[in-house]
Amino acid sequence: MIRTALLSVSDKNGIVPFAKALHEQGVKLISTGGTAKLLAENNLPVVEVSSLTKFPEMLDGRVKTLHPMVHGGLLARRDFPEHMAALKEHGIDTIDMLVINLYPFNETVAKESCSFEDAVENIDIGGPAMLRAAAKNHQDVTVLISPEDYAPVLAEMKANKNTVSYKTNLALAKKVFAHTAQYDGAIANYLSALGDNLDHKARSAYPETLHLAFEKVQEMRYGENPHQSAAFYKDIYPVNGALANYKQLQGKELSYNNIADADSAWECVKSFTGNAGGAAACVIIKHANPCGVAVGASALEAYQKAFKTDPSSAFGGIIAFNVPCDGAAAEAISKQFVEVLIAPSFSDEAKAIFAAKQNVRLLEIPLGTAFNTFDFKRVGGGLLVQSPDAKNVLENEMRVVSKRLPTPSEMHDMMFAWRVAKFVKSNAIVYCANGMTLGIGAGQMSRVDSARMASIKAENAGLSLKGSAVASDAFFPFRDGLDVVVNGGASCAIQPGGSMRDDEIIAAANEHGIAMIFTGTRHFRH
Ligand code: 5GP
Repeated sequence: MIRTALLSVSDKNGIVPFAKALHEQGVKLISTGGTAKLLAENNLPVVEVSSLTKFPEMLDGRVKTLHPMVHGGLLARRDFPEHMAALKEHGIDTIDMLVINLYPFNETVAKESCSFEDAVENIDIGGPAMLRAAAKNHQDVTVLISPEDYAPVLAEMKANKNTVSYKTNLALAKKVFAHTAQYDGAIANYLSALGDNLDHKARSAYPETLHLAFEKVQEMRYGENPHQSAAFYKDIYPVNGALANYKQLQGKELSYNNIADADSAWECVKSFTGNAGGAAACVIIKHANPCGVAVGASALEAYQKAFKTDPSSAFGGIIAFNVPCDGAAAEAISKQFVEVLIAPSFSDEAKAIFAAKQNVRLLEIPLGTAFNTFDFKRVGGGLLVQSPDAKNVLENEMRVVSKRLPTPSEMHDMMFAWRVAKFVKSNAIVYCANGMTLGIGAGQMSRVDSARMASIKAENAGLSLKGSAVASDAFFPFRDGLDVVVNGGASCAIQPGGSMRDDEIIAAANEHGIAMIFTGTRHFRH
């Protein structure tokens, strides 16, 4: 039964109505300086912790609640007579509810203007100590760290004579330990990223030790293969527009492979913004590789063009748009077997069309432009961490290396092909023209084989490569790959350059009379 609550919050949003409700339930309120002041201003009777401890808050607030009057009241086991006798002997009252949020350490260090001193001062000491005490003693203490829990806990108290169930207390305690672990992890990351000179701005993106925090979104029936188990976790601090912000409108549960492919589709389609040459972009993914990418005047046109690249591979694919999916696009897509369809939104007409196809998973994802902070790859006994491949080479960073200059339309096609190549597994060779892919060679161990594959795929789809643009995600190490794409029909090529045989490759381009551009940037994707 909750008779006394201690409230000490840094972010004071929502605290006044909650305290008022507790007061109306007959709960005695105890609070620290700033919180107590706010409650008193709102005409709530509140006992200051300093009057309880008979100690003023001291050392600029570093010591407020670190006292047996507080920790005894939180930690005593109500079912241990010795504990209760000790409280009585020392005149300590039990504290049955704790409402806390901590100094905003993460928000503080995220600011450019933060100094090392600011960061250190924002390490909360008393808050985590009380949280851990209350969570340890969850069988008798209810501990709240998020305002979203205020209403359900109040409702439970009202329905049960101010009592909160063990089940709720345990769930809240679990939340606390996850939170304090994450809070200390953030502090450790910050400090271990600083060099000896403690310069906030010069700290490394890669701390000496790395603490990561994710929360489970779902468990899947199985992983990449049926004999593997799997779950999906999202970042504790969600990135704008990240896949984990998806809202599933209908369809079967997402599988491990669905999520992995949806991520590839979404990252690729969202890179076609602004001057990418079309009002709408569509990406079709199979096994983490694009099998069709196109821009068009509408979602429908973009889809129809993307589908043409490789209709047989598109079967059972994952399709993503960077614009709302309307009825016309939905109607066309409903004629193919699609596993997952992603868009920033779906029109009512589109939803109605898929209502008849309940197996299709429809995902609404906000069209953010931010990338995840890190890319991870698990290797035996460790983790490889890198910044994401967020670079988009601008037109003025590119260098024409051939004698023949590209025409404006070749330039346009090469830019498009270059954008797509970044999302194709290495070695990537991508033929494009008129805002659509014509042939994609992916994941071969030699570049010349990828070039052959791309040509064969275009031929299979009945697409002409004559006058097309070709992109290669990394340099051609020999002229053979270039010979294959030119013989295939390409009239221009875009690639990073940087091979020790660049002279030989440039000479080959000139011999063929094609235009060639060096980007100076490589987009390996393994
Ligand atoms: P208030 O604004 O009420 O004065 O302070 C609330 C904040 O103080 C909360 O974020 C709480 O976690 C923190 N806090 C409570 N007790 C202590 C303590 O003894 N030391 C420190 N450093 N912070 C505390």
